[in-house]
Amino acid sequence: MRDAPGSHGWGAAPEGSLNLAMVQQQERLLAQIDAAIRRHKAGTYGRCLGCGEEIPLARLKALPFARACAQCQEEWEQQSGQPAG
Ligand SMILES: [Zn+2]
Repeated sequence: MRDAPGSHGWGAAPEGSLNLAMVQQQERLLAQIDAAIRRHKAGTYGRCLGCGEEIPLARLKALPFARACAQCQEEWEQQSGQPAG
């Protein structure tokens, strides 16, 4: 069975697809880091954009560019929306 799905067209280049996914992931990461740096300059880094409380240090260590505390982040993800800030 050589005519499996992916033997031609997009699926024919698994390595390329993997690289593309990695690049997209890194671009997202860079955008988040960039936003975190801007918040740092504005003096709002480490504060939750949802409730305004300080984001727990343990969370910032695990997720240095976190924009919100775990609770607010969860609410946003459930609404699949983004904070205004
Ligand atoms: Zn919050």
